[in-house]
Amino acid sequence: MRCHCGGVEIAVRFPSRFAAHCYCASCRITHGTGVVTWIGFKRSQVEVTKGAELLRDYASSPGTNRRYCGHCGTRMMFESQRPDWADEVHLPLGLFVTPVDRAPAVNSFAGERPEWAPLDPHLKSYG
Ligand SMILES: [Zn+2]
Ligand SMILES: [Zn+2]
Repeated sequence: MRCHCGGVEIAVRFPSRFAAHCYCASCRITHGTGVVTWIGFKRSQVEVTKGAELLRDYASSPGTNRRYCGHCGTRMMFESQRPDWADEVHLPLGLFVTPVDRAPAVNSFAGERPEWAPLDPHLKSYG
């Protein structure tokens, strides 16, 4: 996967741990969209292969870090100290330029979804 300007490239090793649509307000506002689709990996499966020096950190809430390209602004990585996520990196599925190993399976934080945002009614919704 890569950012819009191509300055940052990230390689992953499959299998992924999950893929999910997130409707939380932090994702909505930091990405400027109704839903952000994430695919999650163990940290050891994710490697920044180009442009690590371009990555900037933004703490969207205490213990949560959203990394983005300092040149083009593409949001690239989500990391959290939450116990169940502490060993994971979540990557926006939309940045992948090659196929991944699963489709999104759940709607997370669906209670924060704006009415206008698309929702797959066949998936389980949480939050
Ligand atoms: Zn960039
Ligand atoms: Zn979210």
